[in-house]
Amino acid sequence: MSHAVGRLRQAGLKATGPRVILLTALEQNRSHPTAELLYESLQVDHPSLSLSTVYQTLDAFIRTGLCRRVSEAGNRLRVDGTPQDHDHAICRTCGEIFDIDRQLLPRSAPPAQLPQDLMVTGLRVEYDVICEACHAMSDAQGSSGSAGSQRATPSRGSTDRRRKS
Ligand SMILES: [Zn+2]
Ligand SMILES: [Zn+2]
Repeated sequence: MSHAVGRLRQAGLKATGPRVILLTALEQNRSHPTAELLYESLQVDHPSLSLSTVYQTLDAFIRTGLCRRVSEAGNRLRVDGTPQDHDHAICRTCGEIFDIDRQLLPRSAPPAQLPQDLMVTGLRVEYDVICEACHAMSDAQGSSGSAGSQRATPSRGSTDRRRKS
């Protein structure tokens, strides 16, 4: 609890009840939830929390950098409250978002400024990927008979391109 209060104050926000509740929930929820999902997950313990409060609070968090907006094909707002710096890999088939640890793929620092007087506050990479489940699914559809998502027995000189991530 007090940890969330500290982060809120550091971001220049007053530690109101809903903000503490939402920030704590975001720190624990690593699934890049939509505002609606967060709202629903908090209904049991905090029935007085309204959806519009959730939206307003997330808005304040995004503005102050406490959480980040996750882009998606749909129009829904999804948020990421993971404090650690990381990149995203998004499955182009199912839309699942995977966190990619920054330590695994070090990159050079971004410039301080970009053309058109754009002040740079960070650099995010978004990888287009096909996740393991979707890959297995397309495998299963392609080859009849082999059930499940088990690794196929390697045939010599096979064209089985298994993507390493
Ligand atoms: Zn997928
Ligand atoms: Zn993330």
